[in-house]
This record gives sequence, structure tokens and C-alpha cells, in this order.
Amino acid sequence: MLFRQLFDPETSTYTYLLADPQSRDALLIDPVLERMERDLRLLSELGLRLRYTVETHVHADHITSAANLRQQTGSQVVLGERSGVPAADQLLADGDSLVMGGITLTARATPGHTDGCTSWYCAAEGVVFTGDTLLIRGCGRTDFQQGDAYMLWKSVHEQLFTLPDETRVYPGHDYQGRTVTTIDEEKRCNPRLGQGMTVESFAALMAGLNLAYPKKIDIAVPANLTAGQELPRQEMTETSVTRLINSRGRQDAGLWIGDGI
Ligand code: FE
Repeated sequence: MLFRQLFDPETSTYTYLLADPQSRDALLIDPVLERMERDLRLLSELGLRLRYTVETHVHADHITSAANLRQQTGSQVVLGERSGVPAADQLLADGDSLVMGGITLTARATPGHTDGCTSWYCAAEGVVFTGDTLLIRGCGRTDFQQGDAYMLWKSVHEQLFTLPDETRVYPGHDYQGRTVTTIDEEKRCNPRLGQGMTVESFAALMAGLNLAYPKKIDIAVPANLTAGQELPRQEMTETSVTRLINSRGRQDAGLWIGDGI
């Protein structure tokens, strides 16, 4: 498999390019709108045809380029079933697989950061793309978009920590320059979800984080429900946006903060 890890420095988001070297078919996981030209250039340089864009969830901190890439390349927009994104071409349920040439990605429903979060597991390569469900020594926040700490704990322990220990974990973000981890490493060293923690201590920790309201959420969530096709108008009412996010979201701070903290 041809594999590249790409980075958006503004939001510390990772985008992953996976391609079948024989067929030259490619997919992008979590592409970022502002980085679309970079991604299209790389596809062209490597002689690849974009077949799919695959999202780990409806992002709150950046807008996806999925719909724009679909327009330009004919690629299909793929998300997990429970994301409920109306603009998707395929919504895959837990256990469903996306097969592209020699590459098979299996959906593992991992709700908790959002209720539609899906991790994408490639068993043949021993890699899993966890979005914001499991970060390197951390996890995504659980205080908006139907986030639920108990659910996140269950998802990580039942859907990710049950994968082979040597499985390489590629997260949706990293804010400290790290790129990859393994299931074994996170079981041993993740200070929130690893050894020594219980679901109760985890839920208490998450409830006490007191994180700032993410600056881009009011723009990013509605835009991502259209796969980035429609950028929100200025006049979009607060009510229509608020309906899309969890009422527990904090609105008290203007400081930008990522959603994968
Ligand atoms: Fe997120």
C-alpha cells in the first residue's frame, strides 16, 4: 500500500493518503479544505486517481474538502452510518468494509467524541485511523456534538484496545509533533484511557477539563454536514447551529482551541 501522512498546521489535523500501487486508486482520510490544492497536486504527482474521501467524524475544528474533491475528481464521500451526513455517498455501519483494489478498510463504530465517530481499520496493514476517538496519549473532548465520556471509554476498550497490540494507530490530530502510536503503547501509557484508569475516573477527568468553546465549530459543523459543499452564510441563525451541537458545549471563551484536546 502506498501511504502518506499529511498535516494541516493551522488545526493540527492529519490527513492520510492510501493508495493501491497496482490500480493507482487512492483514498484520503479526513482531507482539509484549505489543503485541497496540496492534496490534488500530490495525487497528480504520484499518478493516482482519487476514488474516495473517508471521514472519521463530522469535524468541529475544520471544514472537509470532500464535496469539492468529489466535484473535481468524481470521488465518493464516505462516513460512518451514525454520522448521518446527508451529503455522503456511502454511510458504512460498524463492521462494513470499503474495498478499493487491494485495500480493505473496515468501519469500527467508536462513538464518544461525537456520536457518529468511526475508526477505520486496515487489518492487512495492521493500521487503524482513529480520528479523535483515540489520540496519542489522549482522546477527543466529549463536551459537544453528543459527546459522551462513558461511550468513548467503551468504544476505546471494546473496539480499539481489542485490536492486536502491534497495530499502528494514526490519530486525527496531534498538537505536540507526534505522528503515530500503537495499541500496546496506548494501553500502557495513555493517561486517560490506559492502565490505572477506570471508566469513573475517566468520566470525572473529562467532566473537569473546562475547555474553551471551539472557535470554528459554528462554521465547521454545518459546513461538514454538506461535506464542505456549502459554506455557511453569515446570516445563519444561532438557533440552527445550536441545534447541531450538544447543549453542554461551553460558550464562555473566545480562545481558539482544537476539538481533539
Ligand atoms: Fe473532532
